[in-house]
Amino acid sequence: MKLYTTITSLQNALKEEHSKGLKIGFVPTMGALHQGHLSLVETAGSMCDIVVVSIFVNPTQFNDKNDLANYPRTLESDMNLLATTRCEYFFSPAVEEVYPVPDTRKFDFGNLETVMEGAFRPGHFNGVAQVVSRLFEIVLPDMAFFGRKDFQQMAIIKDMVRQLNLPIEIVPCDIIREKDGLAMSSRNKLLLPEYRNCAPLIYQNLRDAKYLVNLKTVQEIKDYVVNQINATQLLRVEYFEIVDDTTLMSVESWSETGTKVGCIAVYAGKIRLIDNIILDIN
Ligand code: AMP
Repeated sequence: MKLYTTITSLQNALKEEHSKGLKIGFVPTMGALHQGHLSLVETAGSMCDIVVVSIFVNPTQFNDKNDLANYPRTLESDMNLLATTRCEYFFSPAVEEVYPVPDTRKFDFGNLETVMEGAFRPGHFNGVAQVVSRLFEIVLPDMAFFGRKDFQQMAIIKDMVRQLNLPIEIVPCDIIREKDGLAMSSRNKLLLPEYRNCAPLIYQNLRDAKYLVNLKTVQEIKDYVVNQINATQLLRVEYFEIVDDTTLMSVESWSETGTKVGCIAVYAGKIRLIDNIILDIN
């Protein structure tokens, strides 16, 4: 595995791979790598000839300055972890390399960016689209791998690829969890022990919600999950929505057609955690 910090050096190296007609898989990340990220790298390795992984903490997607400042940065251990995988090219650019001039592009994702994460993190998905489109331009991958953990992000990326007519296949990868069910996240490292202890309640309640489908109404399940989690005092639900998996429109009743996903954001102290579960396939 080789580390690249400049666009030119990475592009020169990849040019050769492209010219051989090799299939290039790309896994964009913000680092502080865990098993969830590594599962994306593994899937990329099983479907592509060459795997490129990027680590870049993208300032334009943080709507909260403290969140950006506190985001864990563990480059050395990340490199050691990646060295054990099928990753051949590791790209870790500085902010000025990715954004030599400020990126002023404005994307329009309609409803996809106004609900859930979009409602509570204004500008977040515009920043995600800016950085991912920029990284796609640099790497020119055939396939790119994203986790279902960031469910709404995946819907946005798919829509961006459609809008820009990019010849890139977006491959969704399953959520990897800790033994106690907590979805793996770089932010888990920031949880104080008392918050880490109760954080698995989030997934327990998502599973309860799945069990209750058709036994209770959509609204009853939403209320149930919010009340159960908030009852712990240490956790505060920001939203729990039950949405259609492609339009992200709120589901009113279980009789509606389409796959329904329960998406949640919870504050564990100052740390914001997100998770989701497929509730019903119709
Ligand atoms: P991040 O570094 O948080 O920007 O995440 C980089 C990629 O890893 C995104 O596509 C995430 O959806 C994915 N990812 C993060 N956590 C998990 C997880 N627990 N399971 C699967 N994929 C994940």
